[in-house]
Amino acid sequence: MLIILLGPPGAGKGTEAEKITQKYNLAYISTGDILRKAVKEETQLGRKARDYMDQGQLVPDNLVVEIVRERLTEPDCANGAILDGFPRTVDQAIFLDQVLPEIGAEIDQVLLIEVEENELIERLTGRRVCSDCGVNYHVKYKPPQVRNVCDQCGGDLYQREDDSLKTVKERLEVYKKQTEPLVDFYKEKKLLKAIDGNQDIDEVFEQIDSILKQL
Ligand code: ADP
Ligand code: AMP
Repeated sequence: MLIILLGPPGAGKGTEAEKITQKYNLAYISTGDILRKAVKEETQLGRKARDYMDQGQLVPDNLVVEIVRERLTEPDCANGAILDGFPRTVDQAIFLDQVLPEIGAEIDQVLLIEVEENELIERLTGRRVCSDCGVNYHVKYKPPQVRNVCDQCGGDLYQREDDSLKTVKERLEVYKKQTEPLVDFYKEKKLLKAIDGNQDIDEVFEQIDSILKQL
């Protein structure tokens, strides 16, 4: 099974993906997480990606597609995967269509998580992330039990560089221009289902779960 989570930054893709992978046996692929790790480890990829990410711009397609091509062939993807943050441009989606037959896979469903813009800003500026395991929290909506400490691994929580108000606004513009065209792209392929992401985390998951159960 291959599921794509589509939606603006802050829609809850990572949060819902965590719940989906707990229930369904799917590998989790977040290009954002992979790129952040590369930046932290100062790899060649990380050095190339860093400035784009800090400014809220997309990393060039040629860098990102190679990450995904490799990741999809790893053993944990054999049973299926959930893609979060990829594809983010029509060219990336076309690349994915070319690469999937090579590994005998196809897209089962694209889930578009829709959330109002003011709520997205609130969610992103209040987001905190575990520096060790990458799990997401929110100061108001999903606070950890102990302030700034991860419930799952005890790691320190931090605020992402690109979650500042200025960069959040830039990322929302980038989404509208470069990623939103994917909505029509997947609608035409009859693969898209929209989810009302304005509800709380569990209610959003219920909507997603009812769709995944039928696949
Ligand atoms: P994305 O992966 O789409 O960028 P995240 O899953 O990281 O978004 O969620 C952004 C922030 O909003 C996080 O701090 C998360 O805890 C919070 N969040 C996610 N879903 C909801 C929701 N349904 N209601 C309230 N807050 C949410
Ligand atoms: P995310 O964690 O999905 O919010 O992504 C954080 C940042 O990583 C984005 O603002 C981009 O700079 C970069 N990024 C993640 N995924 C992609 C992608 N598919 N294409 C281009 N850039 C990406």
